[in-house]
Amino acid sequence: PRTALTGHAILIGYGRVGGLVGAALKDAARPFLVIEDADKTLARLKADGIETVAGNAANTEVFAAANPEGATRLILAIPNAFEAGQIVLRARAANPNINVVARAHSDAEVEHLKGLGANTVIMGEREIARGIVDEVLGHKSRVAEPSAA
Ligand code: AMP
Repeated sequence: PRTALTGHAILIGYGRVGGLVGAALKDAARPFLVIEDADKTLARLKADGIETVAGNAANTEVFAAANPEGATRLILAIPNAFEAGQIVLRARAANPNINVVARAHSDAEVEHLKGLGANTVIMGEREIARGIVDEVLGHKSRVAEPSAA
């Protein structure tokens, strides 16, 4: 069944990354739903009273059930950038105005996802390095930006 939510965020993946994002959205009372394909995680979401769409977000019907046309944001918290890229294309086709935030694990993945229309891409390993540099050298230190291609 299609969600009744509008003006919401679609959060894809509720693991180490999406679980923390979802908890913050819930605390901030932002309307959102989660697309997840792992049964155990779906049970945890249900127990937490969070709306879910069960299945692989790369599947056409699963994604459509999240009402991308009426959503304001898409948050891709899955680790596979190729799969995430396919979902970005589908979201853009359904809703040219949706704001897309995606997760990546290399500078090449960042470029790939931006090229397909993601507004913001967060590179996990860079954020880990930032945390380590802050811890070791203090908060004024900066992690180098990727060199221009
Ligand atoms: P983590 O890497 O710990 O943040 O976990 C990623 C989460 O995303 C896991 O809970 C996966 O079940 C979920 N996931 C990965 N790919 C998909 C997908 N295509 N559709 C729905 N959920 C996914």
